Amino acid sequence: MKDLQIDTNQKTAWAEPGLTAAEYTTQSVAHGLATGFGDTGSVGLGGITLGGGVGFLVRKHGLTIDSLLAAEVVTADGKILQVNETNHSDLFWAIRGGGGNFGVAMRFKFRLHDVGQVYGGMLFLPATAEAIASFMSEADSASEALSTIANVMTAPPMPFLPEEIHGKPIIMAMMVYAGDVAKGEQAMAPFRKLAEPYADMLRPMSYTEMYPPEESEYHPVAAARTMFLDRVDRAVAETILDHVQTSTAMMAVAQLRVLGGAMARIPADATAYAHRKSKIMANLAALYEKPEDRSTHEAWVTEFERSIQQSDKGAYVNFINSIGEKQLRAAYPGSTLEKLRRVKAKYDPNNLFHLNQNIPPKKG
Ligand SMILES: Cc1cc2nc3c(=O)[nH]c(=O)nc-3n(C[C@H](O)[C@H](O)[C@H](O)COP(=O)(O)OP(=O)(O)OC[C@H]3O[C@@H](n4cnc5c(N)ncnc54)[C@H](O)[C@@H]3O)c2cc1C
Repeated sequence: MKDLQIDTNQKTAWAEPGLTAAEYTTQSVAHGLATGFGDTGSVGLGGITLGGGVGFLVRKHGLTIDSLLAAEVVTADGKILQVNETNHSDLFWAIRGGGGNFGVAMRFKFRLHDVGQVYGGMLFLPATAEAIASFMSEADSASEALSTIANVMTAPPMPFLPEEIHGKPIIMAMMVYAGDVAKGEQAMAPFRKLAEPYADMLRPMSYTEMYPPEESEYHPVAAARTMFLDRVDRAVAETILDHVQTSTAMMAVAQLRVLGGAMARIPADATAYAHRKSKIMANLAALYEKPEDRSTHEAWVTEFERSIQQSDKGAYVNFINSIGEKQLRAAYPGSTLEKLRRVKAKYDPNNLFHLNQNIPPKKG
C-alpha cells in the first residue's frame, strides 16, 4: 500500500500507510514539499503517524500528526470511516497519538510544507560535559527552523572519523534547518564553535538526503528506554557521559532531542499525544548481539534511566518497547488514557486490535 497522490496546489497528499518516510519524502521533495516524519527513512508511515511522529521538522512544523488532516480508517465492525476534525472527531483525536488501537488506517491525508532545500546533515563533536550541555542550550534557544538530534555515544569505526577517536565519546548530531540556506548556515555557527568538530557534514542539501540508504541486514537487539527530560545541564551531561562510557555493549547511546516550537503550541488535549510541554526527549539504548548478555544491558539501561530521571515522567509511545499499565500511564498522562479507553470502547469494544501498544477498552 504505497500509493501517494500529491496535490501541489492545495499542498496536501493522500498517502497509503505502506510507504516509508523516505519513499514519501523523495516524491514530495521533488515538488519542494515535505511532511515531517522521523529520523529514519525506512520507518513506515502507518506506525509513526498513529503514534505521533517526532523528527527533523518537529520544531518548525510540529509532529507528524500536526500535519494530519484526515484519514480513512477501517474499524472493528468492518466499516470504512472518513475521519477528520468534523467527521468522527473523537476517532480523529484518538488516532493522533493512540496508535493502531482503533482501526486499520488505509490512507492518510497530510499537509505538505515548503521544504525542499535545507541546511543540514551531521556534525561530529568531541563529547565533554560542557559541549553536551552547551549543545542542548544552543538547540533550545535556536530558531524554530532548526531541529536537532544529538546522539551522545562512543565513536563507531566510521571511515571519516580519525582512527584515534574510535571508542571515544562523541556527539553525533543530526541537524536540519528548514528555511533559508544562508540563515541555516548562520544557525549552525554556534554548534560548530562548541569544539573543533571531528567531522562536519553540514551543508545545503535536498531534504531527502536526510534519509540516506540503510543497511537492511543490520538489526541488533537493544536494551532501551525512552523518557522526557526538563534540562541537560553540566551535571546531567556528566552522568550521561559516565553511563555511555561504562556500558559494555557494542554501542551505547543517549539520544537527545530538543523539542518546543510548533509542536509545543498545540494544546495538550487537542490530540492523544499529550506531551506538548515536554522539553527534551531522551532515548537510551545499549545495542548488543549475544542474547545471553541481555540482563547486563537491561540492568545498565534501568540504572541509566533512574540516574537522570527528572520531573517529567512521560514517555513517547512509539519508543516504548514493552507496554504495561505503568508505561500506558506515562504515554497517556492525565485524562488522556481515560478518554482513549472510552473511544476504544466505542470503536473497538472487543479489543480486536490488540497486537499493539494496547489500550484496553473502558468497561461498562
Ligand atoms: C530505526 C528506527 C528509528 C525510529 N525513529 C523514530 C523517530 O525519529 N521518530 C519517531 O517518532 N519514531 C521513530 N521510530 C519509532 C517508530 O515511529 C515506530 O517504531 C513505529 O511504530 C514504526 O511504524 P511502522 O509502520 O514502520 O512499523 P509497524 O511495525 O508496521 O507498525 C507498528 C505498529 O503501528 C500500528 N500500525 C502500523 N500501521 C498501521 C495502520 N495502517 N493502521 C493501524 N495501525 C497501524 C500497529 O499497531 C503496528 O503494530 C523509529 C523506529 C525505528 C525502528
